[in-house]
Amino acid sequence: MTKIPPAVIALGSNSIPVAKKIISVLPGAQLYGLAGRTYDVDVSFTEFGTTLRELFAHGAPIIGICATGILIRTLAPLLANKRQEPPVLAVAEDGSAVVPLLGGLNGVNSLARQIAVVLNVKPAITTTGDIRFGIALEDPPVGYSLANPDDAKSFMSDLLAGNSVRLEGSAPWLNNSALPIAEDATRVIQITEKHVVSTPTRLVYHPATVAIGITFLNPCLPKGERGSSEEIALVQQMLADAELASASVAGVFASTLDAANPALQKIADALNVPVRFFTSDEIAGVMSQNNTVDRAMLQQGAAQRAIALALVASSGQLVIQRQTSDFSCAIALSPSPININITGRPRGRLAVIGTGPGGSNWMSPQVQEFLRNATDLVGYSTYLNLVGSLGKDKRWHESDNREEIARARVALDLAAEGRFVAVVSSGDPGIYAMAAAVFEVLEKEAKPEWQGIEIQVAPGISAMQAAAAKIGAPLGHDFCAISLSDILKPWSIIEQRITAAAQADFVIAFYNPVSKQRTWQLAEAKNILLRYRHPDTPVVLARNVGRDGESVQVWTLENLVPELADMRTVILVGSSKTQMIARCDGSVWVYTPRRYDEDKIL
Ligand code: SAH
Repeated sequence: MTKIPPAVIALGSNSIPVAKKIISVLPGAQLYGLAGRTYDVDVSFTEFGTTLRELFAHGAPIIGICATGILIRTLAPLLANKRQEPPVLAVAEDGSAVVPLLGGLNGVNSLARQIAVVLNVKPAITTTGDIRFGIALEDPPVGYSLANPDDAKSFMSDLLAGNSVRLEGSAPWLNNSALPIAEDATRVIQITEKHVVSTPTRLVYHPATVAIGITFLNPCLPKGERGSSEEIALVQQMLADAELASASVAGVFASTLDAANPALQKIADALNVPVRFFTSDEIAGVMSQNNTVDRAMLQQGAAQRAIALALVASSGQLVIQRQTSDFSCAIALSPSPININITGRPRGRLAVIGTGPGGSNWMSPQVQEFLRNATDLVGYSTYLNLVGSLGKDKRWHESDNREEIARARVALDLAAEGRFVAVVSSGDPGIYAMAAAVFEVLEKEAKPEWQGIEIQVAPGISAMQAAAAKIGAPLGHDFCAISLSDILKPWSIIEQRITAAAQADFVIAFYNPVSKQRTWQLAEAKNILLRYRHPDTPVVLARNVGRDGESVQVWTLENLVPELADMRTVILVGSSKTQMIARCDGSVWVYTPRRYDEDKIL
């Protein structure tokens, strides 16, 4: 249930100041700019029509700083389903007009009002009900859902034609509106968490006041051991028995210790609500305070923790409680809609991502998406700087390049607080980088609060692949990677590995070849290699690949000297089969053929 961030579209540099003002009041909004006409934007596009239609199809709210006609003509072919239309607005380049065009059922008018405030103008709202009664019946505020949206239009027409309305139940946005309220009215608006019948003359709004607390006896069942259909059926039965509408369910609430249980998300998905977590301390706090339920009973068992969860999430009253042999569920009712954004915390996420060697064109879409959605970035400052505008508006936790274990610990602790942490590595995060450090800490320290974190590793293009691509195909046959750094492993092991790799005639990618303190290792590696490889073996020295100051040079093994390399260089040493092909500009291609004739090995 991720909310898609709004896209503010600028077609020229004149629109940028207005675009930036709009973005300042829309958290997460992305600035889209036409390539060649705009600079300093989040996303640069060349095809206006395609970009706009894709955003629309994905349900992104669209704010075009352009004429209404352009937006209308571009989106016209897609206008099929009013309920699914995202808000679309046109804003004049000088900020003097804000025109809501589409998405009346999805909040376009309130978005227009929000933008109009920052631009200091009056929004061009044309929806009659909205103007007359200050209310959009079809588009209730967050915390309420309309059970019979298809009846809203004629209901509003009736009111505009002079009928009055009676409120059953209460909701501030309705009580404070200019609706023609009368006690004897035949039209009714009912606000209730109960499952009731709606009709064309009775609109029913369900407030998000129902909290479902869930606990498991087994926090982490082996995958596939059983489904979650039994739990889903029980929760639905409980709602039915308590006559509660599932549209009133605000969320599923659980202990952080149960966060990794896949059944939890399945139950929440079945109800179309999010899951939020409370720590054991928070649950224990409610257990000790609560006096509506027998205190001694609260202090033990999964059933009691489920009750405590429902109570802490709702600040209300327990309605129903049931359990099976390995699952327990309690439902409580809150006096007002539960704001899911400030109740408990989402499941913590930790994504260890690889940005590739440098530029954004070598960064995978998955990595870009994680960067966009993360709340916190953890990493070495040089790598954090590589993520460019995707890293803005996030908390940065920078550190020294050598403090990997401390960094992994920080990242896990932040994720355990419910944050979405991206641990940023250059290249691939699993190759001499942070992914292994995270798992080392996870295994060795194994804090219980880390168990519920959702951990993902997103691959990136490693330095050796980028270097190989720049020069041809030197990794075209069997190859291996060896780090020449003897900080985390003894030189004797490195020596052994180089010897074995040389004997086996692998192409070898050397990472961390030379640093200010470590200069002799590369010379020593060369000496070992010369025992098995021809002095003319091609050696690729690739420095700062994909970044400013990129250089890719080809030397022979015999001429390789440590001064040619540094910590930003990856070295590819050819096998006995690696070839060079001259190019007409005087440079060469290097490649290793896929076919192998054993007699050619030195
Ligand atoms: N995770 C990274 C490797 C980190 S180890 C990856 O997959 O690429 C650091 C070493 O990687 C450096 O000493 C250098 O050997 C190599 N390296 C990283 N980025 C590089 C780049 N842009 N150009 C050349 N070598 C690079």
